[in-house]
Amino acid sequence: MNNYIVVTGGNRGIGWDICKSLCCKGFSVLLGSRKVDQALHEKISAEIDPAYKENIIPFICDLGNLDETKESFKSLCTERSITNISALINNAGISIDHLALRAKENDINLILDTNLTSTIKLTNHLLRFLLKAQDGASVVNMSSVVGLMGNLSQSTYAASKAGIIGYTKSMAKEYAGKNIRFNAICPGFIQTAMTDNLSEKAKQNYLDQIPLKRLGSGEDVANLVHFLISKQSSYITGETIKVDGGLYI
Ligand code: NDP
Repeated sequence: MNNYIVVTGGNRGIGWDICKSLCCKGFSVLLGSRKVDQALHEKISAEIDPAYKENIIPFICDLGNLDETKESFKSLCTERSITNISALINNAGISIDHLALRAKENDINLILDTNLTSTIKLTNHLLRFLLKAQDGASVVNMSSVVGLMGNLSQSTYAASKAGIIGYTKSMAKEYAGKNIRFNAICPGFIQTAMTDNLSEKAKQNYLDQIPLKRLGSGEDVANLVHFLISKQSSYITGETIKVDGGLYI
């Protein structure tokens, strides 16, 4: 039986690195993306070893449009006779920095809706598929060290990521009896589009605070995701694990 893994925000950044890593390990990856277009298919062809590219199956996943996302997932399941999923990686997220005094209501709503509310709603919807996984299932939620330590100009983002940790712990308690594990990952500074627009000075400032003296990669996060969905972590649930080079000790 196939092990289907759903990854949200799988088209780029950390999500893409997770998809790439898992498909090469033989998992069937249901890659959620707001846009499933020619560009995404070309990226898969160009960057995935031909031996594994059939393992990546894109579907439309837009946290701003859950009705469309549910429909697209339903069609995919019908088309591929998918009845269960063994893991869900809630990776999609956004960050819009603002000082609290200048925060726009739309931005606050968008950050909380995307990172927290819709992630919760989508997970709750997919629970019925996770419950049918024969050997139990694993959900990995992408939080952030900012959700643990707070950050200047990121009060709303930090609140959304702290909320994800509370959700993860509660779900771990609620679904342990059904053999679904829930864990959260807190990346530190990972080099992606989300961090690319920071000034060189800000990047250097982070680097100075990271004991391991390098910025993180998507692969660093993907390695932990692989562990958390594998049997090697079968006695771990409700945990919050940092991948931050020691940024927040
Ligand atoms: P990127 O900005 O590089 O990628 C974000 C991904 O989320 C994209 O695939 C994007 O899709 C998707 N996304 C955004 N909004 C939505 C939406 N409404 N519906 C569906 N998908 C959406 O970010 P990263 O890869 O850096 O971050 C991935 C996760 O890791 C996020 O949750 C982030 O908060 C978290 N994180 C990242 C850190 C870092 O240093 N990079 C540090 C700590 C946490 P699209 O291409 O359509 O925009």
